[in-house]
Amino acid sequence: MPERIAREWNSLVEQTSTETHQIVYSIVHDYEDELKQRYRAYLEGDPDLASLIGESTNLTAFTDRFLEWMKKLVDPNATSGEIFFSEQDSLGDTMARIGFPPHAVSRSIRKIKLWFLRHLAEADVSRQQLVDAMTFVIGLFDIALEVREASYQKGVASNARVNEAYRLHLLGQNLGMERERQRAALMEWGHGILAAFYQNAASSELPRLWKSEFGLWLNHKAHILFERQPKLELIKQLVNRIDNELVPALERVSFGDRSQISDAAGRIEEELSAIKFLLNSIFEAHIEVESGRDPLTQLLTRRFMPSVMMREIQLQKVSAAAGFCVLLLDIDHFKTINDTHGHKVGDLALRSVAAAITETVRQTDFVFRYGGEEMLIVLVECDEAMGLQVAEKIRSEIAKLSIPLADGGKFAVTASIGVAAFKGELDYERILARADKAVYEAKEGGRNRVTLAPES
Ligand code: GH3
Ligand code: MG
Ligand code: MG
Repeated sequence: MPERIAREWNSLVEQTSTETHQIVYSIVHDYEDELKQRYRAYLEGDPDLASLIGESTNLTAFTDRFLEWMKKLVDPNATSGEIFFSEQDSLGDTMARIGFPPHAVSRSIRKIKLWFLRHLAEADVSRQQLVDAMTFVIGLFDIALEVREASYQKGVASNARVNEAYRLHLLGQNLGMERERQRAALMEWGHGILAAFYQNAASSELPRLWKSEFGLWLNHKAHILFERQPKLELIKQLVNRIDNELVPALERVSFGDRSQISDAAGRIEEELSAIKFLLNSIFEAHIEVESGRDPLTQLLTRRFMPSVMMREIQLQKVSAAAGFCVLLLDIDHFKTINDTHGHKVGDLALRSVAAAITETVRQTDFVFRYGGEEMLIVLVECDEAMGLQVAEKIRSEIAKLSIPLADGGKFAVTASIGVAAFKGELDYERILARADKAVYEAKEGGRNRVTLAPES
């Protein structure tokens, strides 16, 4: 448990007499039912919580858990901080997992405090006891909230890391293949529904799309791949319509009525086409953008740069870490290349430079398209000397390139590279700023060269 807050808790318990403790405890004990009722009404009445909690069995479980927590909190025998802290800690963790909004916790604590104060004011106690009890109640809940918030933050952060890692893992799988698989699964269900209709001959229920391979994918995996893609909602609505309206309509059609059968099947077919269309456009957009690859150069897009840099900085915090280097590369006189040979040739030059970089660095390094004709290279486990060496190799490989022109001619391209080795920065923006200065110096110095970044 955190030292400072533990000290506060201990002194709060020490300065509270057993008598005061008992007064607070008996309020919870005597008004147990009222407290439960109030808390339940609070959960039900809060729109943020209503959708989270949902079922009334959950509501009962929440309320019971709350009362249990409350009793432990004010238990005159529980004077050891350990129980108190581990309880708050696990609560904070749980709330992060279920997505309990932190502001709702603060709000409920505020209400509980007021509830206590009202009952204390009505209790038959001396003025001094009243002040002591109030001090105790306020301190108790504020400390509980503080501990809970800290573990909530920890919980949220670790969930976010897990989600991101999982998403990157899924994205790493071939999206093109995934698209084909889901398209095939959708079509298979479409063919299967009519076959099932004829086989079952109105004897039993037809299969539902939500229960098919495609439905499972849509429900469990698609949201991870495509995050907050609004078209996903549209697809879900179409699936609902198929399952709740169109399939039941087909189930009601009499077996011999050919025109009704083809009508009902036709409507399902129409919605399936709409789903296929939406699915395709979601995949199309994501295959390029969300795969993190820039379509022109096939380099990583800038999007993942922050998570890569933050992870590298994190890795440096262990002793004997190997360091890392950032290389910022800017193609020389690229405007002139465009102006002289046209944009298409400019694009080709960009692709060739990107390929030269990728072939020079290791598989485990990261190459981003940072801006138009700027690339950012993160060399992992790499000290300054090695960073300079790799940069020099990249520079010379680029200078060796010979870009072909439509008329049979060729031209050369050069680049300026700034090298910044990690110097203990906490904020990766500072490393980038150093690399940026170095590029500027390389340009000033005459281009087609490697420059080491200043210390700060
Ligand atoms: P310097 O040596 O100082 O870097 O000169 P520069 O001409 O390269 O300077 P600047 O950075 O201002 O020019 C970059 C140019 O790159 C401008 C822009 O038209 C061009 N550019 C950016 N993205 C692309 C692209 O995707 N394709 C093509 N063909 N050109 C691009
Ligand atoms: Mg530039
Ligand atoms: Mg340039």
